[in-house]
Amino acid sequence: TRTSSRRGDSSAKLVVLAGPTAVGKGTVAGYIRQHYPGVHLSVSATTRAPRPGEIDGVSYFFIDDAEFDRMVEAGALLEWATVHNAYRYGTPRGPVSEALSQGNSVLLEIDIQGARSVRRAMPEARLVFLLPPSWDELVRRLIGRDTEAPAEQARRLETAKLELAAQGEFDYRVVNHDVGEAAREVVDLMNLRTAPLLP
Ligand code: 5GP
Repeated sequence: TRTSSRRGDSSAKLVVLAGPTAVGKGTVAGYIRQHYPGVHLSVSATTRAPRPGEIDGVSYFFIDDAEFDRMVEAGALLEWATVHNAYRYGTPRGPVSEALSQGNSVLLEIDIQGARSVRRAMPEARLVFLLPPSWDELVRRLIGRDTEAPAEQARRLETAKLELAAQGEFDYRVVNHDVGEAAREVVDLMNLRTAPLLP
């Protein structure tokens, strides 16, 4: 559900998808990658280790601290942040600029600090906050996906509370009841002229 629209520039093509941990940002972004090939999905660099099934260069660019430092120093990241007080994540600048200059829509799936940085760097970006249907549902999703140890889950839930409080800073809010519907709402915000491959 779109509840607000402060920035009405129809030429804006950069959309930032943020939201609390475990809300399903990655799932929505993955759905968009599969079903809307006209959208360029930014691949972030991160210092965290790959999870089972994650592919270097597709899920993330998995790099070490020294390489991350080099990218920061070279100005190669559009934004970066330390997430959950643990690892660093950043958006490589080059592919985003290239896709935008070719007139393509670009989607960044990043955390809330990153969204704020993008707002400063590129005020024309549209910021989308993905919401869970309810707090209980968010807790269920975080525990259900079972990718973090219990202590890490507790830490992420604390972070999620703070993150939910930031939703007012965003241009749009989309409730993730259903991945396909949420993806469609996000893509609609890009004013895509190409039709999706699948309904
Ligand atoms: P995960 O480790 O579960 O893949 O991601 C943890 C968090 O990092 C998520 O909230 C995700 O949105 C965020 N994240 C992923 N890539 C980036 C990035 O390039 N920049 C920022 N600021 N956050 C990111």
